[in-house]
Formats: sequence, structure tokens, C-alpha cells
Amino acid sequence: MGAGRTILYIVAAVLIFFGVLFIWAAFSDQISQPWGTMAVGAVSLLAGLGMIALAGRLGKKAAQEVTVVQKIDFSGDVNLEKLTCRSCGGALTPENITMLAGAPVVHCPYCKTSYQLEEKPKW
Ligand SMILES: [Zn+2]
Repeated sequence: MGAGRTILYIVAAVLIFFGVLFIWAAFSDQISQPWGTMAVGAVSLLAGLGMIALAGRLGKKAAQEVTVVQKIDFSGDVNLEKLTCRSCGGALTPENITMLAGAPVVHCPYCKTSYQLEEKPKW
């Protein structure tokens, strides 16, 4: 995907370069068919600009795919850490957990209790 976009940009740059060159040459008196030369230059220039637009669209698509993947990863992590309240058994979300003095503290929205998330030490 990335290599394809790079090739598109290089081809587009070459097309725009020759497009500008042809249009510029069309204004020269030494060209026998200035309108034909200008038409070739215009087509080349437009093709190059179209390729840049296409490459930009491909880039946006790729960025969107990355965002979707990140969202899926995030929801997967949340599902893995299914937390329930110790005293009432209510479902907790990461938003109900705050860091206090380096220790995660749960604030249950259902029974309003607060306690440290760490497991009790086994004696
Ligand atoms: Zn609770």
C-alpha cells in the first residue's frame, strides 16, 4: 500500500514536470504546433494532478483502516478485563477506576463503595 502510493507520487511528479514543460514550450516561438503541444502538456498535467488526488485518497483509506483496527483492539482489551464490584457484583468500566498514590482504586457507581483493586495479600 505504501509503496504503491510512493510510485503514484513519483509518476505524478514526472507527469506534472513534463506537463509544465510542454505548456511552457508551447509559448515558445520555435514550436510549430503550439496548441497541440499545449494540449499534450495540459493532459499530462491533469493526469499528474489526478494521480496525486488518487494517492491522497488511498492514504486516507489506509489511515481509516488503522483507526478501525485500533478500535477493535481497544474493545478486545476491555472485554478481557471484565471487572465486577467486590461488594455488589455490578459491572465496572475502566472509567470507574482511578489511580490514587500509584494504586488503582475502584469507585463503584452502583453501591458507591471505594476500594483498592489490588488483591488481598495471601498470608
Ligand atoms: Zn458495587
